[in-house]
Amino acid sequence: MKRIAILGSTGSIGVQSLDVITEFPDQFSVHSLTANTQIERLKKQIAEFKPRMVAVKDEENVKDLPSYQGELTVHTGIDGLVDVVTHPDVDLVISAIPGSAGFIPTLRAIEAGKSVALANKELLVMAGEIIMNAARKSGVDIIPLDSEHIAIHQCLAGQNLDDVQRLILTASGGPFLHSNREHMEKMSPAEALDHPTWNMGQKITIDSATLMNKGFEVIEAHWLFGIPVSKIDVVIHPQSIIHSMVEMIDGNVLAQIGPPDMRIPIQYALTYPQRLDTPWPRFDITRAWDLTLLPPDHEKFPCLGLAYEAGRIGTTLPAVLSAADEMAVDAFLKGQIGFMQIPKVIADAMSCHAKNEPMLNRHSALSLNAVLAANSWARTYCRERFSAV
Ligand code: NAD
Ligand code: MG
Repeated sequence: MKRIAILGSTGSIGVQSLDVITEFPDQFSVHSLTANTQIERLKKQIAEFKPRMVAVKDEENVKDLPSYQGELTVHTGIDGLVDVVTHPDVDLVISAIPGSAGFIPTLRAIEAGKSVALANKELLVMAGEIIMNAARKSGVDIIPLDSEHIAIHQCLAGQNLDDVQRLILTASGGPFLHSNREHMEKMSPAEALDHPTWNMGQKITIDSATLMNKGFEVIEAHWLFGIPVSKIDVVIHPQSIIHSMVEMIDGNVLAQIGPPDMRIPIQYALTYPQRLDTPWPRFDITRAWDLTLLPPDHEKFPCLGLAYEAGRIGTTLPAVLSAADEMAVDAFLKGQIGFMQIPKVIADAMSCHAKNEPMLNRHSALSLNAVLAANSWARTYCRERFSAV
């Protein structure tokens, strides 16, 4: 029985993880739940799953939570998230808070020796070296909780990494795959949130529309599988059936396919290395399918190139990429900037950081302080820029 703590239980990944947990009551129990603002949903989850611990971001929400049976302890803020995930009774942490808010709790969970199913790819973007070193030091597994990386994880099983020619990540292309640039300049948040194949939280949906999500996934794959960014390619595949591929040096290409239903990769991540019968609808590849594969259009989607650049240069530049993206997406959703200004803001933040930061030195190990400083610098840079508009 794995006892699970969920960072972000009220979100898209959190809710689907609870669906999986419900289907396998002999395998999993919910130790703790955490949320930001969706307190009504959290209350329902508490009633259904009866966790031992709960953490919410703000103190003011605590009074709304039930104190049933006197057994539930309620914690707040980042410290509260850390208390929950490092509790001795937790076996596995699902890290599914988007952006940098989940960074410290996830790092502390790894340092405390917890296995982590990592949905929050931004953590590997901002601090992949630190996260992977901490996991090695604690001897814990980090299982990706992202459909592409679970695809690669399965394709690489039993393979020698030296025999890998390249990884090929598939991308749906998002809602603007066929839009022209002029049209994209005027895209509203509602149009950008209308993703054709996946139903996800707001930030990752906008990141999918700009292709930044795929850029993040390139850096994520680099850290998870130890493959250089230069050997990771992206291909547009609008049907989201092929979840990713691995090309071997002998020319064989391995692909993992399945329906666009996150519960299947979530089940894989939670039960790994076991495989269990799935309760979710099976995928019938024998019926007629059109599977399209297209190269990405870098001019229309500059975020992808920015992520490659940050991934290639490394050090604190990916932390700036990630923080500036978080700020720019938030500003777009609030109507403060247009859709095509998202890559512009991020590019400007990256070049300003690269100019002013002599610490972009590839040879020194990346420190936690340097990452946090770059993250906070990029937020201030963006905040000042948006307030000047
Ligand atoms: P979401 O917006 O639906 O959910 C976010 C969750 O985090 C919510 O429970 C929210 O309450 C919580 N949260 C947000 N900010 C918080 C804060 N400051 N403190 C405490 N809790 C906070 O997001 P999602 O779609 O579930 O995505 C979560 C992560 O998983 C992201 O990093 C995303 O890139 C990744 N991911 C998502 C999918 C998907 O299909 N949704 C697929 C792959 C990877
Ligand atoms: Mg993905």
